[in-house]
Amino acid sequence: MGDLSEHFSKAELACHCCGQLEIDARLIAALESLRTLANKPVVVHDGYRCLGHNQNVGGVTQSEHTLGTAADIDIPGLSLQQMYELALQVPAFFNGGIGVYDGGFLHVDVRVHEARWARVRGQYVGIQHLVTTPATLLAKVQSGSQPA
Ligand SMILES: [Zn+2]
Ligand SMILES: [Zn+2]
Repeated sequence: MGDLSEHFSKAELACHCCGQLEIDARLIAALESLRTLANKPVVVHDGYRCLGHNQNVGGVTQSEHTLGTAADIDIPGLSLQQMYELALQVPAFFNGGIGVYDGGFLHVDVRVHEARWARVRGQYVGIQHLVTTPATLLAKVQSGSQPA
């Protein structure tokens, strides 16, 4: 279906302003794993961002999006909590970045250290403000919370 991988296309992961596309293969593999776990289409709202576009959308400096390691996604039909729990089951996201947004979408990235956050009414806060982390995974989640 996709022209980048089985379920993902270049158009949905390319920079929205210029069409530039620098995507880390680990991100695509992790998104495919999430697609398999969900057994539903994963909609990508934002993937790679060039530096100019990242500034224009108010992304943090050195956003994972500018490295091609991040995607903002949602899975229609699933709640934020359900999407979060699925993302935690993908090792590259579990060990990387997961942010949950009150607009109803998830940021996932494949950075090599763990980061968790929530964004509520424009403010970055602890992820527990929007979702509950299953007890078995709680210990891991208390470190780091860098937005991306
Ligand atoms: Zn661009
Ligand atoms: Zn993002």
